[in-house]
Amino acid sequence: MWSDRRTLLVVDRVAGTDHDAVLVDSGKIVAVGSSNEFETAGLAIDRYPGTSLIAGLGDAHFHPLGFTAAISRLNVANCGSFDDLAGKIRKVTSGMPPGQVVIGTRLNDDGLAEQRLPTRLDLDAMVGDRPLMLYRYCGHVAVANTAALDLSGVRPDTPDPVGGSLDRDADGRPNGILRETAISLCGDVLGQRSGDLSREEVLNAMSGLVGSGLTRLGAIVATGGFFGVRDEIDQLIDIGPDLPLNLSVLVYAETPDQLERAAERLSNAGRRLSFLGMKDFTDGSLGGHTAALRQPYSDWQSEVGTNRFDLARIGPLAERSLALGGSVALHAIGDAACADVIGYFGTLRDAGVDADRLRIEHASVLSDADVEALAATGAVASVQPAFLASETEWLGTRLGERVETTYRFRTMQEAGIALAGGSDCPVEPPFPLAGMAVAQDRAGMVPAESLDAGSALALFTDGVSAALREPLPLKPGARADFTMLNVDPLTATPDELRGAEVVATWIEGTPHLPIPFEWDQ
Ligand SMILES: [Zn+2]
Repeated sequence: MWSDRRTLLVVDRVAGTDHDAVLVDSGKIVAVGSSNEFETAGLAIDRYPGTSLIAGLGDAHFHPLGFTAAISRLNVANCGSFDDLAGKIRKVTSGMPPGQVVIGTRLNDDGLAEQRLPTRLDLDAMVGDRPLMLYRYCGHVAVANTAALDLSGVRPDTPDPVGGSLDRDADGRPNGILRETAISLCGDVLGQRSGDLSREEVLNAMSGLVGSGLTRLGAIVATGGFFGVRDEIDQLIDIGPDLPLNLSVLVYAETPDQLERAAERLSNAGRRLSFLGMKDFTDGSLGGHTAALRQPYSDWQSEVGTNRFDLARIGPLAERSLALGGSVALHAIGDAACADVIGYFGTLRDAGVDADRLRIEHASVLSDADVEALAATGAVASVQPAFLASETEWLGTRLGERVETTYRFRTMQEAGIALAGGSDCPVEPPFPLAGMAVAQDRAGMVPAESLDAGSALALFTDGVSAALREPLPLKPGARADFTMLNVDPLTATPDELRGAEVVATWIEGTPHLPIPFEWDQ
């Protein structure tokens, strides 16, 4: 709970201003100004020498339960080979009863010596007949071993589902690699990564985020529990009152009625949780060759990705979200999927929908005409600079010349598109300062699209407010949410920002000190 005494926080500088103090009362900001104009007898003063203060950082696109699973369960991100993978899995399964299902996350085939995804036979050699499923870090591809396929009822003649595919060996039998909607063939039976996370695991993970400077998330959470797995919305609501930060929830639902029930429950879940809207997919990932492109992948000439834009499915969910006062957030990465989403947003705008309710998630590959059309809709582009840092090795090979039209932060900004920053964690690391750094130096890729320091900071402050439909932060009357750093993010170099320390994160007038947690890169 906040302290209700009036307190003056004094720092070296409130970033981007000539001020050095913020006056806080009852969890709200009273004023931002100079310490000498506020200091009066009897006022409590907290001094933080050597720090600069910025608005509480946010992340517009975050998977809180996936992140919890990534730090507290089997995470295979830093495995360098199949041998490594086998070792890590063996360690986790050594004490487990036989037959217990194991789910791992953040498989990165681009980082493996073998330079390919394992197949069911590779996984069988690691765990035998224990059901095992590994999710690729993008979440759009997974691999299941033979026991997992059997348990899920996937047979040699199981057809590809709509919006997904099963990779097959020479005789047509599924080889264990599942793309897009095919993941649910096994995922829905085996349980997802997050189904059985404990309250402590989730709360510890969220406290770790606060220590990284985050005060609020655009949290993507699925509803509609399936066999043996709790509904993620219920999991969050149970811990809602104890959450250390604010979650504006974008609900991934199968049906409009599920969406509505989730919205009702979230609206009654207390001050930390709120319903923000619906989230759905229209394509996959560049890493998994499933993002929907107009022209084939440069390193896979017969493949244009998986276009999942389906108005018969998305339209009713979007309309219900709007009727409930919510936003419409659609994942689109490839230029073909982006064009479909932009066209749909244009239709919604023509029907009178407010632009601030529309979000395109990722908007990764855009032609000049796409940028112009997106700007005309007024929709928010929810972008993840950290993708650049993890894709430098292969993005050029995968897209060829199109790499010049990928992650077009500067072009979008100049076209007047509101940009909101995020990480898509656990796809990428959760650290907002690293996101700000790569928005500036782009890990060396297409420097013409880099943002200046102020715009990079704004991605994770004012931009997140736009995406979460909240008032601008760090203003009188706003929540007393701030992040205090040992550098000034407006003058620090990108590398200084990567190495910077969060001194404290304030949420509604209460300070939180950093809690270290382990993140396997
Ligand atoms: Zn995501």
